[in-house]
Amino acid sequence: MYVVMVASECAPVAKVGGLGDVVFGLSRELEIRGNAVEIVLPKYDCMRYDHIWGLQLTYEDLWVPWFNYHVHCSVYFGFVHGRKCFFIEPHSGDNFFNRGAYYGFPDEHLRFAFFSKAALEFLYRSGKRPDVIHTHDWQTALVPVMLYEIYQYAGMENVRVCHTLHNVKHQGIAGSNVLWFTGLGRPDYYYDRERLGDDFNPSAINFTKGAIVYSNFITTVSPRHAWEIRHTEWGYGLGHALHIHQSKFGGVLNGLDYEMWNPETDAAIASHYTAASFDAKRENTRAMRSRLWLRQVDKPVVTYVGRLDMQKGVGLIRHAIFRSLERGAQFVLLGSSTELGINAEFWQLKNELNDHPDCHLEIGYNEELAHLIYAGADILIVPSLFEPCGLTQMIAFRYGTVPVVRWVGGLADTVFDRDFSDKPWEERNGYVFHQTDNLALESALDRAIALWFERPDEFRGLAQRGMRCDYSWNRPGADYLNIYEMIRHK
Ligand code: ADP
Repeated sequence: MYVVMVASECAPVAKVGGLGDVVFGLSRELEIRGNAVEIVLPKYDCMRYDHIWGLQLTYEDLWVPWFNYHVHCSVYFGFVHGRKCFFIEPHSGDNFFNRGAYYGFPDEHLRFAFFSKAALEFLYRSGKRPDVIHTHDWQTALVPVMLYEIYQYAGMENVRVCHTLHNVKHQGIAGSNVLWFTGLGRPDYYYDRERLGDDFNPSAINFTKGAIVYSNFITTVSPRHAWEIRHTEWGYGLGHALHIHQSKFGGVLNGLDYEMWNPETDAAIASHYTAASFDAKRENTRAMRSRLWLRQVDKPVVTYVGRLDMQKGVGLIRHAIFRSLERGAQFVLLGSSTELGINAEFWQLKNELNDHPDCHLEIGYNEELAHLIYAGADILIVPSLFEPCGLTQMIAFRYGTVPVVRWVGGLADTVFDRDFSDKPWEERNGYVFHQTDNLALESALDRAIALWFERPDEFRGLAQRGMRCDYSWNRPGADYLNIYEMIRHK
């Protein structure tokens, strides 16, 4: 099968969060299974160009219709760790992708509406007719809309679309200007709530709603979250649309790229290990401590790695820092926020704890350091308020670090409490709490720290059990292929 991913991120070349990991990991799995996969991305100036091999101009004159003129674009091709990627570079005064950051601009909806249009125009002009286009989140949610309303009449009628909802908090809300710019036009038609009309804001179109209506299949990134966004407030207003289109909607648990995240071969860690050679993990703890100016003592290291966002439970993360120290553990945080208030709060916390010999807060984004922390830490906390899938707990398993998580979304599908789960003993792999208050977090974190101190052999057994879980792309890869096959023959 021939699959084209159209996305705003792909790890490690352009990654902000889990979306980038998924685009890369799923593509790799599909290729291993004998499919042809190509990835179309914007050519951001801030990408990690050191992860692209053989970057070359491959399509020089792509003219993308935009409002009542055409924007001249160049398309580059390069390999990102073996994946075939096309990068679209527009040459216009808008400078959509030359801004030193991936996201966070006031004309965000126009930037990605343009990218979606350009990606389709590129496929159309270069004669590419994939069996399936797989789009991801609001940034590329207009692809199925434009494919159905415009490009199918230009000879792309056999192309099907699968759209994945990674985070429905961000949906792509815009006014009618997007319709005019993309050539869709006809506001009366598209503002209809059966098409792009937002269910709660009659003066807005909603990109994600469009993807739900127009795609041949919609997935979200875990079965639990598929239920949550239909039935709870975590649908952020999309529950009704998902309910109407439920026959083409389902949850597929994300996989983890087991080659990129592999303690046996990882170039970013100090010492390689497996579940059988677990003791070698300690060398990474030593390396992490010396890199982060922590003292070398016989204590567990609790960590948080991830975005510092309300979604991630910043209040609970903060509490976990103090609670861990109080309970005699060390704490390492690696994270950053696009919200100034949250960033300022954590900078202040960092200053406050700067001289603490058992605590290090690293504010920023650092892929290599993240690998070392996963390998060096003992316990990882993920106290999210909502979490569509969550990759950090899966990475933690892979590196023999025990996750302590809140029972929500994909966390509930992957982490099973050592003491209270109804799963068989061999499948219990971490600690889980339910509510969103500090006491709830303590109820799980304290148990994890206590086990480390009081029954180290059992703690180690728990970590090793996590390492033996299979959260690779093997199963989700097969699930996605079944979905592609199904929509291809519709
Ligand atoms: P989300 O997609 O909501 O950000 P996920 O848990 O699905 O959360 O994925 C997060 C991914 O981003 C993981 O691979 C994690 O290691 C990585 N990550 C997040 N923040 C940082 C950071 N500050 N430095 C390095 N890696 C990070």
